[in-house]
Amino acid sequence: MKTVVKFGGSSLASAEQFKKVGEIIRKDPSRRFVVPSAPGKRNDSDTKVTDLLYRCYESAEAGEDFTVLLKAIKERYYEIIRGLSLEVSLEQEFHEIEKMFQEKAGREYAASRGEYLNSRIMAAYLGFPFVDAAEMIVFHEDGTLDLEETDRCMSQRLLPMDCAVVPGFYGADREGHVRTFSRGGSDVTGSLVARAISADMYENWTDVSGFLVADPHIVDDPETIETITYRELRELSYMGATVLHEEAIFPVRRQGIPINIRNTNRPEDKGTLIVESTCRKPRYVITGIAGKKGFCSINIEKSLMNSEIGFGRKVLQVFEDQGISFEHMPSGIDTMTVFVHQDDFVDHEQQVIAGIHRAVSPDFVEMESDLALIAVVGRGMKSTRGTASRIFSALAHARINVKMIDQGSSEQNIIIGVENRDFESAVKAIYDIFVTSSM
Ligand code: ASP
Repeated sequence: MKTVVKFGGSSLASAEQFKKVGEIIRKDPSRRFVVPSAPGKRNDSDTKVTDLLYRCYESAEAGEDFTVLLKAIKERYYEIIRGLSLEVSLEQEFHEIEKMFQEKAGREYAASRGEYLNSRIMAAYLGFPFVDAAEMIVFHEDGTLDLEETDRCMSQRLLPMDCAVVPGFYGADREGHVRTFSRGGSDVTGSLVARAISADMYENWTDVSGFLVADPHIVDDPETIETITYRELRELSYMGATVLHEEAIFPVRRQGIPINIRNTNRPEDKGTLIVESTCRKPRYVITGIAGKKGFCSINIEKSLMNSEIGFGRKVLQVFEDQGISFEHMPSGIDTMTVFVHQDDFVDHEQQVIAGIHRAVSPDFVEMESDLALIAVVGRGMKSTRGTASRIFSALAHARINVKMIDQGSSEQNIIIGVENRDFESAVKAIYDIFVTSSM
């Protein structure tokens, strides 16, 4: 058995957290490949080392004195080293970083040092070899990942090894310049390592016990999702549920490697298992509820729309020309409604309306703003009778007016549009009908 374990910033923010991580790794001998993030926040008012590094580098770039800030960063690491009673010196590393900052080595180089240094400490603490991600993760010139080359380099390097610590978040382009993923990108590194060594499991350790059925800011103490498919996860995450970096899925998905989201502070919890497919029955009919506020709808009416070939394409072309992506597009026989993010739309509103008039000469165009979309997602909904009726009777009971309904033919998600002000009560009502009342 080979397990890749990735630890997020809050799991490695202090020596205490490192000790918990050490215990977790030693408890299971299959946990042999470790991907650390940079130290995160120790408490709510703390700052992540990555953010300190960005700030420090900005100062260096502006020609200001950045040594005080760099010293504060150094102290974060030394606090961990002392707390673990390690004999590790990072003097040479910090000397090099200072020099590279003076030479303006770039923001991405600067940010990557957070993971690099933490991984050096982790390797010393565990007695595992350190393998630099810059030697294995290959980026194209434009900053996107070269997956094939990365996979090749990584397998070649890591497959013969028994164990290793690989820093998260960065790699390098062909010229050797350090490049980073977007924020939270250590999740992607973990996934790449899991793929390269054909791991049996990718454990992603963080500070929550997995995905929750609904947002805890809306529902009190929501249940944890035990098992979720990649597809369900996509549906939920595009509607706002984020625990895992969205690019962390694709390297492992095709290989059938499951991801287990675990809580470093509660290692006894099983967390959430993300799988390609499963015959495990979900505990409830729905797997999760997610949603976002701040949409607006553009409703277009024209008689005999249904027989006008190319109508939809022409309308969508107008949005494309303005660089606006649409979220949903329910339609009726003579109507079509396009849902877009309000923030993306407002500045282009008049151009879009004029464009639609020019493109399709509609009878009528109407707009509505301040709408929220809620995605109710679950593989258990497929072929279960009465799911939609339960949702809508719950919403009716809660006196919520439904503005839009859209069910994908996969039968795994139902999207509901309500007014922004009804958003929270709608999520609660749906949670209650499927979860609270079936407990
Ligand atoms: N340290 C980076 C960040 O704060 C990457 C990561 O933690 O995954 O975004």
